Amino acid sequence: MSTVETAKNSQYFIDLEDKHGAHNYHPLPVVLDRGEGVFVWDVEGKKYYDFLSAYSAVNQGHSHPKIVEALVNQAKKLALTSRAFYNSNLGEYEQKITTLFGFDKVLPMNSGAEAVETAVKLARKWSYEVKGISENAAKIIVCENNFHGRTTTIVSFSNDPDANQNYGPFTPGFIKIPYNDIQALEEILTQDAQNIAAFLVEPIQGEAGVYVPDENFLKNASELCKKHNVLFIADEVQTGIARTGRLIACHHEDVQPDILILGKALSGGMYPVSAVLANNEIMNVIKPGQHGSTFGGNPIACAVAIAALDVVADEKLSQRAEELGQLFRSEIEKLIEKSDLITKVRGKGLLNAILINDTPDSSTAWNLCLQLKENGLLAKPTHGNIIRLAPPLVITEEQLLDCVRIIEKTILEFK
Ligand SMILES: *Cc1c(COP(=O)(O)O)cnc(C)c1O
Repeated sequence: MSTVETAKNSQYFIDLEDKHGAHNYHPLPVVLDRGEGVFVWDVEGKKYYDFLSAYSAVNQGHSHPKIVEALVNQAKKLALTSRAFYNSNLGEYEQKITTLFGFDKVLPMNSGAEAVETAVKLARKWSYEVKGISENAAKIIVCENNFHGRTTTIVSFSNDPDANQNYGPFTPGFIKIPYNDIQALEEILTQDAQNIAAFLVEPIQGEAGVYVPDENFLKNASELCKKHNVLFIADEVQTGIARTGRLIACHHEDVQPDILILGKALSGGMYPVSAVLANNEIMNVIKPGQHGSTFGGNPIACAVAIAALDVVADEKLSQRAEELGQLFRSEIEKLIEKSDLITKVRGKGLLNAILINDTPDSSTAWNLCLQLKENGLLAKPTHGNIIRLAPPLVITEEQLLDCVRIIEKTILEFK
């Protein structure tokens, strides 16, 4: 090995990012180089269980061979056409995704934030052209502590100072209510439904710390929206694609949103693919030239998403997430009885979080994640004292129990 190569250890790559990259993230000090299924390896060759799954983008596991094959084959054949022309992948992908999720139409985008932006634009346009709200008066109800992405409009309705401080002036037209507060929703709808286009909600608040709403909150909220002719928009970018034990988390309560937003695991983490789904009455308000994206619906994205959705069905990932999630929470409950360091486990399917017995501004959760890393498991704190635990859904029961042992050992030995 040459001296140049031997110098390329983790610190070398960390220093490069530190020097040349914007400091808009605070990564755990591990440099990943390879992934397969539930595992990732750092540049020194140390193997870890991935318990973040790229924020639930890698539900199908790292470098799933069927998704890789779809990507490689399509890349060799045709990558990008723009939507100025038809392509021979988009139609079949659109047919597949709309049939699977039960909508008339899909609008393809790339990132989750772009799909949320699309849903906001679609709901506003529908509210003027179908519902009949007067010009520029439409409002959208959102929830406190939401996370919907990073664009200027989306951070306009965030209440996280990190997300929006000094990014103003903000886009108007959003009303915030507490999450999981059906009374607050009913009140605002009763007062002002004629000016309200939509209610935008995460079925479980992921980034905020895996907050699961009360049973029937989604069902009651969607019924209230229906009653007031307000669109129910589900942002399932993180909760969708089998993560919570159903294809989408809304299915836990038999709710079919008016607009469904998907991203992340829609591509198995292989490529940026997002989607907005709605029925004709809503989607048809957008006409040629009124919205778009150069990369949205490109042949690679379509081939990759078809393969990623096939893997979810073939490997019964919803069922796995449901069963293994129950096992995981019951194992962590046992650990809570043995340790004062964690106070609670919550979640659905394999989207779970543990609460650390310290203040949100303490470094306990961060230090615990450093120790988990030493013991071969990667997870990251969210909002200080909460650690999200979300492995790829292809994890086996044996592997999951191995991870429970790592978590238990780390917590019991933690000082
Ligand atoms: C991650 C996420 C987004 C944003 O997705 P990006 O691809 O990062 O733009 C939007 N909504 C939710 C619920 C998310 O978890």
